[in-house]
Amino acid sequence: MTKPQLTIYLAAPRGFCAGVDRAIKIVEMAIEKWGAPVYVRHEIVHNKFVVDSLRDKGAVFVEELHECPDDRPVIFSAHGVPKSVPAAAAKREMVFVDATCPLVSKVHIEAERHYENGLQMIMIGHAGHPETLGTMGQLPEGEVLLVETVDDVANVDVRDPSKLAFVTQTTLSVDDTIDIVAALRDRFPAIVGPHKEDICYATTNRQEAVKAIAPDCDALLVVGAPNSSNSKRLVEVAAKNGCNYAQLVQRATEIDWRALGEIRSLGITAGASAPEVLVNEVINAFRERFDVTVEMVETAKENVEFKVPRVLRVPA
Ligand code: SF4
Repeated sequence: MTKPQLTIYLAAPRGFCAGVDRAIKIVEMAIEKWGAPVYVRHEIVHNKFVVDSLRDKGAVFVEELHECPDDRPVIFSAHGVPKSVPAAAAKREMVFVDATCPLVSKVHIEAERHYENGLQMIMIGHAGHPETLGTMGQLPEGEVLLVETVDDVANVDVRDPSKLAFVTQTTLSVDDTIDIVAALRDRFPAIVGPHKEDICYATTNRQEAVKAIAPDCDALLVVGAPNSSNSKRLVEVAAKNGCNYAQLVQRATEIDWRALGEIRSLGITAGASAPEVLVNEVINAFRERFDVTVEMVETAKENVEFKVPRVLRVPA
C-alpha cells in the first residue's frame, strides 16, 4: 500500500540550549567526581528523558534541600534557586554546585542591583515556576511583585510608583511580554528595566522559527515536557500564528494520530530542554505511516556556549 505524502518542516533552532547543555554536563561531572549518588534539587532541566538518563547514572532528584543527606553533594537546577537554598546548604556544610543558567543568574544580578538602588521590583513570570521562585527569592519577601498578565498590571499594588524596576522570566512568550511591558511603562512611566525584556536568545529563536513555519503547517508538534515553560510557549506561538493544530508531545507514543487526521504538512520543533534523539523518534514514527520529505527551516544560527567549569569546586 502506498503511504500518503507528508512534508515535515523542521524548525531550526530547536532543542537543547547552552544553559541546558551546561547543566546536564555539570551533573555528569559531579557523578564522575564524587560517585553516586549525587542529589539534584528539582529536575535539572524539564525533560523526563534527560532526568531518567541521569538517574540511571546515579543522580537522585528531590524537590527540596531537606530531602538530601548532609554528606552527599547536591546540584541546583538550571532554573535557579532562591538565595535561602545555598545559604541552607552552606549552613549544613554540604557540598553543592549551582547549575543555574548564566542567563538566569544575569537576571538575579539585575534584580539585586535595582534593590540596592532602592527600587521595588516587578517580575513578569509564571507563578510557581522554579525560575520565578528563584528570581523572586533573590530579594527579601515583599520586594518582588509578580505579574503574569496585562490585567495583573492594572491591579498591582506598589510602594512608590516612582521607584520601580522590572525583570522577566527568561522563557516567556516574546509577543505576550511586549504587551505586559507596554502596560507597565504606561502605568508606571518611571519604571526602570532592560531595553526590552530578559527573555533569552534560545526562547526567542525557537519562537521565531515556529512563527516562520506555522502558517504552512496543517499541524505542528512541539517535542517537550508539560512543565517546560519554553515548550508550552512554542505551542501557543504556533496556534497564534496560523497553525490550526499544535500539540506538545514528550515522546512518539504521545502522538494523537486520530486528531492529526489527513495532514499533508507538519511542523516539528523542540523545547530548549528536549534532546534531538526525541525529535528523531517523532520523525521516524511519521516515516512509518507517511512518505516523508523533511525540509529544515532555519531562521537563526546559534553559537552560544556556556563554559562548564573544568573542575567542580565546592563553594568556600
Ligand atoms: S532556555 Fe534560556 S535561560 Fe533557560 S537554560 Fe536555556 S539559555 Fe538558559
